[in-house]
Amino acid sequence: MHADLYQKALDNLGKNENVDYYVYQVCGNTVEDSALGKCPICGSSD
Ligand SMILES: [Zn+2]
Repeated sequence: MHADLYQKALDNLGKNENVDYYVYQVCGNTVEDSALGKCPICGSSD
């Protein structure tokens, strides 16, 4: 049981570390991939 909880924590940690979030300053839109460049909502690159 302890091993399962530990594995679950590791899985969650891995997810958080693997996902890059980027928040566009102009509209506040948040995307999971910072390599997108322009915001898909408003077209701004900031
Ligand atoms: Zn935007």
